Amino acid sequence: MNTSGLAAQPRPAAASGGFDVLVVGAGFAGSVLAERLASQLGLRVLVCDKRPHIGGNAHDRYDDAGLLVHPYGPHIFHTNSAEVFDYLSRFTEWRPYQHRVLASVDGQLLPMPINLDTVNRLYGMNLTAQQMEAFLASMAEKLESVKTSEDMVVSKVGRDLYNKFFRGYTRKQWGLDPSELDASVTARVPTRCNRDDRYFTDTFQAMPRAGYTRMFERMLAHPNIKVMLNTDYREIEHVFPWRHMVYTGPIDAYFDYRHGKLPYRSLRFEHQTLPQEHFQSVGTVNFPNDYAYTRVTEFKHLTGQAHAQTSVVYEFPCDEGDPYYPVPRPQNAELYRLYQAEAEQVPNVSFVGRLATYKYYNMDQVVAQALTTFRKLKAQLGGEAAE
Ligand code: FAD
Ligand code: UDP
Repeated sequence: MNTSGLAAQPRPAAASGGFDVLVVGAGFAGSVLAERLASQLGLRVLVCDKRPHIGGNAHDRYDDAGLLVHPYGPHIFHTNSAEVFDYLSRFTEWRPYQHRVLASVDGQLLPMPINLDTVNRLYGMNLTAQQMEAFLASMAEKLESVKTSEDMVVSKVGRDLYNKFFRGYTRKQWGLDPSELDASVTARVPTRCNRDDRYFTDTFQAMPRAGYTRMFERMLAHPNIKVMLNTDYREIEHVFPWRHMVYTGPIDAYFDYRHGKLPYRSLRFEHQTLPQEHFQSVGTVNFPNDYAYTRVTEFKHLTGQAHAQTSVVYEFPCDEGDPYYPVPRPQNAELYRLYQAEAEQVPNVSFVGRLATYKYYNMDQVVAQALTTFRKLKAQLGGEAAE
């Protein structure tokens, strides 16, 4: 028996039949945990995913024209966490990339998040940064408390900018009025009184140089990790013995929806490959007020790929389909808490990731959550590793 807790030598997964850990889902949450458990604790890990590929929603692939695209919508990596960035840097090199977004409003393409140029061009003014602060203060509605996504915006920039940039987009994206969503949703998009037109201001902003899928391949390449695709965990959970499960699918599905279905918003993606080198001047153009789609993204901006053609994706929000977005509003948080309380009673299953913890997390937040879960599991599983 190894009492050191850390079994340094890899033991090929199939060598002794069973697995130490069954990881359900090969997205960020599942792949980070599989990698840590295998490489740091020497555990034998089986990763299954019901989809035919690794990477979860961050999966990317080359389309028929040879352009690198994101089948599940544009994924731009950004984080303030050096720990997360350093960790992922073990598996990829990076291409520095700062995302820019324009919003189509009143016949103009204007910087989004709203900044000094947005306001000056929209209203035909020539404000300075200081004057913009005063202007927004005069437009802002004074509220006693900020609870909803509508409150969040009107209390900062007033109703006109809210109506032009947020109300229509949010109603399309979520099928709900901003007044029905937590403030945290629109709080993701700041307002700036300077001319910074980047979508994100995080310390680290970069794309995996060879793509996300290549990065996931490297994470999962450890000899202790076996990957089974096209496999729902329910098909195998009783076939292969395991001691611990890391579950990254929807939490309500795990419990057979016994408290009712948690709402997840979905998207239909329309991909187009176009016979031209460029399509739009920035990575993404948002359409808050027109069309059934919310935004159009041209991948070459994100990937930096040189190619005679270009590939774009239109996002059409819908209720039915793969669960992409947990819907942040009080009644859903309440329903989630019922599932969370059940999850806490299941000692040999860890619930991790955007779907299993019903959190509107970015990729870096999921990586951070998985690394935290690993530290907890290390104490629990490390000592048992070589029993
Ligand atoms: P997922 O990637 O969803 O992985 C879960 C996996 O579990 C899936 O592959 C699924 O097939 C599998 N699974 C589920 N149930 C089962 C089952 N029963 N059996 C087997 N397998 C199962 N984040 C950013 O940081 N930047 C962005 O620009 C960004 N853009 C986004 C754009 C869109 C359109 C969407 C939807 C998300 C975006 N995100 C972005 C968020 C990002 O996708 C997530 O934070 C991250 O991918 C979540 O990883 P995860 O492992 O928790 O979940
Ligand atoms: N949003 C908006 N108008 C925009 C961009 C965003 O109203 O032009 C709101 C909308 O509710 C959206 C939320 O802000 O769902 C968060 O935007 P983000 O770009 O972070 O969404 P994601 O990339 O996660 O889909």
